[in-house]
Amino acid sequence: MSEQKADLLIVGGGPAGMMAGLLFARAGVRTLVLEKHGDFLRDFRGDTVHPSTLGLFDELGLLDAFLQRPHDKVPDIEAVIAGTPYRIADFSHLPGRGKYIAMMPQWEFLDFVAAEAKRYPTFELRMETEAEAAIEADGRVVGVRTIAGEDIRARLVIAADGRGSRLREGLPLEDLGAPIDVLWFRVPKQPTPTNDTQGYISGGEMIVAIDRGDYFQCARVIEKGSAERVLARGIEAFRAEVAAVVPEVRDGIAGLANLDEVKLLTVTLDRLTRWHRPGLLAIGDAAHAMSPVGGVGINLAIQDAVAAANILAGPMARGGDPDPLLAKVQKRRMFPVKVIQAMQRTVHRTVLRAALAGTVQKAPWPVRLLGRTPLLQRIPARVLGLGVRREHIRSPDAGLRRPSPSPLPD
Ligand SMILES: Cc1cc2nc3c(=O)[nH]c(=O)nc-3n(C[C@H](O)[C@H](O)[C@H](O)COP(=O)(O)OP(=O)(O)OC[C@H]3O[C@@H](n4cnc5c(N)ncnc54)[C@H](O)[C@@H]3O)c2cc1C
Repeated sequence: MSEQKADLLIVGGGPAGMMAGLLFARAGVRTLVLEKHGDFLRDFRGDTVHPSTLGLFDELGLLDAFLQRPHDKVPDIEAVIAGTPYRIADFSHLPGRGKYIAMMPQWEFLDFVAAEAKRYPTFELRMETEAEAAIEADGRVVGVRTIAGEDIRARLVIAADGRGSRLREGLPLEDLGAPIDVLWFRVPKQPTPTNDTQGYISGGEMIVAIDRGDYFQCARVIEKGSAERVLARGIEAFRAEVAAVVPEVRDGIAGLANLDEVKLLTVTLDRLTRWHRPGLLAIGDAAHAMSPVGGVGINLAIQDAVAAANILAGPMARGGDPDPLLAKVQKRRMFPVKVIQAMQRTVHRTVLRAALAGTVQKAPWPVRLLGRTPLLQRIPARVLGLGVRREHIRSPDAGLRRPSPSPLPD
């Protein structure tokens, strides 16, 4: 059995893990990230890069390089309810350069962060490396065993392995319940000068159509556990039901060839009541699985990574013991998680239930009020765009950045 050592071992190369990897390596902490997949090419779980994240890249001096990657700017959010469009959030008044949501395929986002992190000699990313379990000694997590049987030791393990986290086993979990699942599929389209993403509610359906240039990535929200029933109606019915709600996909819906192209994404909403134990800290969805409502899970995951680095990276780079500081990360981040999850639960209970029950004949009054009061549209924009208790980069820069990405293999 081979053995390797790092100061910090991060399990999971999603938004939380990659951002944490970049920041700890930048501070001079020898950081190893393990990602079980061979690439970042997962087309699900959101494309949203929020104003707060754009602000973080700006603070790191990386925003211009980041914006070279393909993306669409979403300066406001519109919902089409019973055929009428309502503008419900306007990001254009937010402070800083991030006055919009950047819709960027997640592989581009993760690839960018990975390329930047590889500029630090203190960073290593190992793809196709799956953690099986934590290794413990004297009541403390001291590393991770991979499914290939390799032991990797570290002074701290960060579990950023998402909502199905293995590493969080043994930590107390509170299941908050989610009444929905999502059917995820593509509908081809002709390229248009702008790519507009929109949500539609009508006739007992809720569908979000993300415009990715030559296709719409569609998310059809369904009642939890009803996928089999919906799909049993067959491809013709599926196409007709979607086209009835989203006029923009009518021309291309025949391009959805069969139901094998429709993937079920199950939605969970939960959180650990303790995010840490000696030697281990959970962040992102591993600490608090988020529903897609509001498209804020990526943002929260990144904010956790920034908070973890702010609190731990400096002391770890100086050789300090991270254990006494782990509770501070949870203390800092639990409040925003609770606020956002409470909002998601409210939307689950009210808007989504009513939308799927087909009882939405017109927009509820708060939406109508928002729609006709531009000043009010700034409030949801702040909450969605900047989050609650916004993080800024406070972790140190050890000055190790190389001018070009490492030529070394992953
Ligand atoms: C249907 C759906 C749609 C969503 N849409 C949006 C959206 O539009 N905007 C938004 O902000 N949020 C959205 N979310 C929420 C968002 O996806 C998550 O909150 C976010 O991805 C959390 O990031 P993370 O880094 O914590 O975890 P993840 O993104 O889940 O990343 C975890 C990573 O760990 C890897 N991994 C897992 N286990 C291991 C292991 N044992 N060893 C090594 N690697 C491992 C995985 O391969 C993965 O790369 C959506 C969620 C769902 C369910």
